[in-house]
Amino acid sequence: MNQHQLMIPADVYETMVRHGDSCLPFEGCGLLAGIDYEILSFWPFENEIKSDRRFFVNKRVVSATLDQINQRNENVIAIYHTHPSTAPVPSSFDLASHADQNIKMLIVSYKFTTPKAKCYDIAGKSYRECPFFIKPTS
Ligand SMILES: [Zn+2]
Repeated sequence: MNQHQLMIPADVYETMVRHGDSCLPFEGCGLLAGIDYEILSFWPFENEIKSDRRFFVNKRVVSATLDQINQRNENVIAIYHTHPSTAPVPSSFDLASHADQNIKMLIVSYKFTTPKAKCYDIAGKSYRECPFFIKPTS
């Protein structure tokens, strides 16, 4: 068990939720980067397949973004995507396509009036919720 709780600044969280909202009715996706357990930056992607069940971003876009994250001396902490109409729980497709188990999976659900986000550690076909804390920003 790690004792560190993932921290997301409120402005980053709100930017992410707005991005996901702007992608509706399709899934939105992107990266959350930072240092250790602290998220510092949000990197939205354009979902290249217009789908409400899947997302896809080509490798060239991903590697260009990873370069920018590296230049800031940050690491990718979580991959974010949205569930336009289902609960924020990883689908079997999400689990099968999660590229790196050192990276968390954050899902924002728009099933309910208030968007709901959950973060997970992924290990093969299993997942465990990884609670996070939204740090107020002024
Ligand atoms: Zn999903």
